[in-house]
Amino acid sequence: MIGVFALQGAFLEHEKMLASLGAAWKEIRRREHFTDGLDGVILPGGESTVQGKLLKEEGLLAPLKEAIAGGLPVFGTCAGLILLAEKLSGDPTVWLGAMNVEVRRNAYGRQLGSFRADIPFEGVGSVPAVFIRAPYVEAVGAKAHALASCGGKVVAVRQGHMLATAFHPELTADMRVHEYFLREFVR
Ligand code: GLN
Repeated sequence: MIGVFALQGAFLEHEKMLASLGAAWKEIRRREHFTDGLDGVILPGGESTVQGKLLKEEGLLAPLKEAIAGGLPVFGTCAGLILLAEKLSGDPTVWLGAMNVEVRRNAYGRQLGSFRADIPFEGVGSVPAVFIRAPYVEAVGAKAHALASCGGKVVAVRQGHMLATAFHPELTADMRVHEYFLREFVR
């Protein structure tokens, strides 16, 4: 059972992906939805500041942080990557502080707000990637491992049971990154 955080952003697309892959999922909007027995969680893209504030307001931020520290598999896309990062470039905000990476928000600037690219993804192959006002990983710490880059910038990382991408695999028809998460991270 995968918990899809559904406070804000592109959670429906993740749910469609999981359904297509035959995985059971439930939405997490409030504290009481975040029950024991989840095999993994997904943090969707959207607006990290809004999502972080809502997580806090709903009393979900601390339990989620604790569960991730305890080994709960997690997949964050875009804003999800920002929430997972230990450090944001030029910004003192830390939400979950779970992944040993420094992430720059809205990193591609206004000229390149949104774009699509095919990128090689370690363990998966070439995948179509949709970037929307995307962050990238400015620095990969010793505990984290880069899985994909685009234009010389790291855009996918893993660290133990945690996976994060700067782009949105859920906005394409290609299901392999989700399949990779279910296969390699969710026991
Ligand atoms: N720009 C957004 C943020 O800073 C992330 C964009 C996205 O999730 N597509 O939170």
